[in-house]
Amino acid sequence: MTRHTDVVVVGGGQAGLAAGYHLRRHRLDFVILDAEAAPGGAWQHMWDSLHLFSPAQYSSLPGRLMPAQPGETYPDTGHVVNYLADYEKRYDLPIQHGTRVDAVRRDTDRLLVEADSGTWRARAVISATGTWSRPFLPAVPGRSVFTGRQLHTVNYRSPADFAGQRVLVVGGGNSGAQIAADLALDGQVEVTWVTQRPPRFLPDDIDGRALFDVATARRRALEAGRSDTGGVASLGDIVAVPPVRAARDAGLLTAQPMFTQLTATAVRWADGSTREADAVIWCTGFRPALAHLAPLNLRGARGHIPTDGTRALGEPRLHLLGYGDWTGPASATLIGVGRPARDAAREIAALM
Ligand SMILES: Cc1cc2nc3c(=O)[nH]c(=O)nc-3n(C[C@H](O)[C@H](O)[C@H](O)COP(=O)(O)OP(=O)(O)OC[C@H]3O[C@@H](n4cnc5c(N)ncnc54)[C@H](O)[C@@H]3O)c2cc1C
Repeated sequence: MTRHTDVVVVGGGQAGLAAGYHLRRHRLDFVILDAEAAPGGAWQHMWDSLHLFSPAQYSSLPGRLMPAQPGETYPDTGHVVNYLADYEKRYDLPIQHGTRVDAVRRDTDRLLVEADSGTWRARAVISATGTWSRPFLPAVPGRSVFTGRQLHTVNYRSPADFAGQRVLVVGGGNSGAQIAADLALDGQVEVTWVTQRPPRFLPDDIDGRALFDVATARRRALEAGRSDTGGVASLGDIVAVPPVRAARDAGLLTAQPMFTQLTATAVRWADGSTREADAVIWCTGFRPALAHLAPLNLRGARGHIPTDGTRALGEPRLHLLGYGDWTGPASATLIGVGRPARDAAREIAALM
């Protein structure tokens, strides 16, 4: 059966919900199709001890402040999931959970959105599928030879799964530092943290609030034609959230350089030294989940789709939301996605 609507939003995590909020304000007819069976997007799957890097009121979607979590300055992921579930209900967003979109195609004056539960003909599409479903693993020699456990950030839950084991954590970003700290502070796991270059901790007084301010200052500078301030990346890579700070200050978070090879039971560095390991956790990032857009043939360099703001350059009826800074400064954060969502909805309304 083919259904008709103004806009299909693909993905019902925070980016899809922010899109829905603004589409509703423009009184457009739309549907949000989300592969997850329940609300919360990727937040449902993150590891047990994870907390936001900003206080609740700095982690809000448009229209509704995230309430504080009693006893926590930085809310945990369960609190975020509850907030997103409540947001869906509060704004009565037309979201269909458990619906995966396989393909978006051009069809004369419409875009055809093919999902496992049917097809929609839409005048515009907002893709907000995030990155969680596309974990990235680097091509390191011997990866297939290693007989221990290998997992990615997406599969990590808690130190209890590694009690008494020797674990290598690979990655110098926030996930790598936080998972290494989680394991090290537990005291039951022998952790080696490995990073491609020496880790760059942000100053301790900088959390997500300050990062958002820096990203905003950068956007304003660029909009005003002033020189690029370098944004968040110029400050460092790792937010010194409380567990990271605690592990670092206890001397538990000293990074080793990247090894060059895995063997059946160990990793080996360029100088020939080795370390036995029971498990390797690859905290090596994500790629945007864009497979459903392949029929539109829009991919540019680095697997991204070139955009002007959120609008795809090669297909003006398609907007991309979330994913990373290439779809708007801080657009892959809770507080940052509101602005590009507003812009996307406004452009779509103008197009109609
Ligand atoms: C470890 C970690 C910590 C983070 N901490 C913070 C933080 O403290 N503060 C902050 O603001 N941000 C943080 N972020 C960044 C960001 O807020 C989250 O990654 C957030 O989940 C991104 O939301 P999203 O809506 O773009 O994507 P997602 O939450 O991944 O939602 C995308 C949705 O689209 C669905 N989907 C995917 N493909 C399809 C398809 N083909 N058809 C239908 N549905 C599909 C998915 O199932 C999912 O429900 C963190 C990210 C990570 C990984």
